Amino acid sequence: MNKIKMITFDLDDTLWDNRPTIINAEIETRKWIEDRVGEIKWGDLNDFLDLRKELIKKDESIEWDIGKLRKEIFKEKLKHIRPTSLRNKIVNDAFEIFIDKRHLIKLYDGVEASLKILSKKYELGVLTNGNADIYKFKIGRYFKFSISSLEAKDNKPNRSHFDKALEKLEGVKFDEMLHIGDHQINDIIGASNLGINTLWFNNNNSEWEQDSKKPDEFSSWKMLPEIIEKYYG
Ligand SMILES: [Mg+2]
Repeated sequence: MNKIKMITFDLDDTLWDNRPTIINAEIETRKWIEDRVGEIKWGDLNDFLDLRKELIKKDESIEWDIGKLRKEIFKEKLKHIRPTSLRNKIVNDAFEIFIDKRHLIKLYDGVEASLKILSKKYELGVLTNGNADIYKFKIGRYFKFSISSLEAKDNKPNRSHFDKALEKLEGVKFDEMLHIGDHQINDIIGASNLGINTLWFNNNNSEWEQDSKKPDEFSSWKMLPEIIEKYYG
């Protein structure tokens, strides 16, 4: 086994449970908008996916720029609001509120203590498809870099995030990297296709559903430094 020099982490559903955060952010933002303009037909998930597809057809950067995607969706839902300047102001303000609420997260037990330990031995980085900013949290101090899809101009499992991570640390090779994440494809398959070592965060006892061999996994952050030491120490 190679010595590991750099560890990269996914954020959403790896450092915290993302679902309650996003649901709350969504509800609060919608409420804020409706307080200003009255009731809006937000539609269901399928409407959202259709709209997303349509928007990507017109502007393919929306595929990886989820901030733009969200603003365009607000614009669409508020297209009856005049003048356009007022509509745009509501859209931008609503987006700020969403981003604010989107950072109201609760770290999984053991995250902070483990990062502190690991940061003493390894360079730590973030590779996220989402738009949480690690540097808005106290734990940001443990990370040397953070790469989102906005910077990568692509989403994991594609290689752009991983390539950019290598650029952050001179002389490091993929097989000296360890990527940790919850998503079987975006994190584990994406990284291991490049020869990056992987550790799957599986805290709900999920089945491994890919054709490839099941990766090393862990279910509690409290165990993480010990597990990394066992495999790579
Ligand atoms: Mg994730």
